[in-house]
Amino acid sequence: MHKFLAKCDEALAEISAQGRYRRFVALEKLADRFPYYSVTMEGKTRDILVWSANDYLAMGTDPRVIAAAAEAARRYGAGAGGTRNIAGSSPLHVALEEELADLHGKDAALLFTSGYVSNQATLTAILSSLPDWHVFSDAQNHNSMIVGIKGSRTATVHVFRHNDMADLERRLASAPAGAPKLIAFESVYSMDGDIAPLSEICDLADRYNALTYLDEVHAVGMYGAHGGGVSEQDGVAGRITIIEGTLAKGFGCHGGYITGDFKVLDYIRSVAAGFIFTTALPPPTVAAALASIRILKQDAALRARLFAGAEMLKAKFRAANLPVMEGNSHIVPLMIGNAQKATEVSMRLIREFGMYATPINYPTVPQGTERLRFTPGPKHTEEMMDALVQALLHILQPAETAPA
Ligand SMILES: *Cc1c(COP(=O)(O)O)cnc(C)c1O
Repeated sequence: MHKFLAKCDEALAEISAQGRYRRFVALEKLADRFPYYSVTMEGKTRDILVWSANDYLAMGTDPRVIAAAAEAARRYGAGAGGTRNIAGSSPLHVALEEELADLHGKDAALLFTSGYVSNQATLTAILSSLPDWHVFSDAQNHNSMIVGIKGSRTATVHVFRHNDMADLERRLASAPAGAPKLIAFESVYSMDGDIAPLSEICDLADRYNALTYLDEVHAVGMYGAHGGGVSEQDGVAGRITIIEGTLAKGFGCHGGYITGDFKVLDYIRSVAAGFIFTTALPPPTVAAALASIRILKQDAALRARLFAGAEMLKAKFRAANLPVMEGNSHIVPLMIGNAQKATEVSMRLIREFGMYATPINYPTVPQGTERLRFTPGPKHTEEMMDALVQALLHILQPAETAPA
């Protein structure tokens, strides 16, 4: 056997033994019945109520968004047919970039294949531009930012304690005063559901002459008066150098983007490999995203329903003495604390109660903090929440799961 094949056997056996072998449940999303999905398990097909989708506002199944995609597919076809440089830039792409720049109050925006690629390609491009960058990265940053930072062969990396301003300041002060500096962080952290102190980070950036790179993936469409994210809500968008987002979560479609000053984006557009050497987003996706952003810019009531739902579910978990992790975002994590159990609870929820919540295991979160993650949206009703609490109480023995 080739050494690599033996390695695959060994690694997979170890992952299984640790109870974190990843089984993808084939969930058929039903556009007209979201958040119900159709699932076939052990030969039987039934409806499952999904609690873990990142299509937080159900925009991916909004009839207006679907109509925009269908119309664009008929008119322009299924694919872009080239990179942005090779016949792949349509007026639709330009319009979407203008809409995103406007959403964040920036000069310009650039589209990428995904939020992952936008982080990876942009951070590598920035941190490879000068030989002596110092980058300050929150300890809980998403893998796409970490990989983007590691893509620079020369940057000095400082990982600061999650949302810890004293630790960030200490590290900023320790770097050479004249070196170019960048602070990379998120607004809403999706696994704990907590939110960064954006204006304090901007203050530190001013004090130490650092640029700022903010991942708003779990906030765009949902926070701020027009869905411009926590930076809009906190009134600090103008102080952030680059705001990055996705079209795939709150906006319910697909693709990633960055926004910022014209000169900075013109540079990224000209040097970032992950932007240059790949086919432009397909027109149906671009049209759908454009429709979704325009709807959400207007619809503050939908955002209000999202937050009311999250607060209601947290309150119900608390009242039932279920170990909800406290945070002020729309994400509701329930601490389980071990991989086998998180997987088992998730499987029992599906089999016995027809509901699905993703188990979040290592390496997504540290070992010992395995959890289930709930993202109630505007289509999850109070009756659904009550049924969920009853199911969880049945599966988890409350005496054993009550917080110490
Ligand atoms: C999901 C996610 C991304 C990647 O976005 P995609 O559009 O799904 O590729 C980036 N950053 C964070 C924090 C994420 O959770």
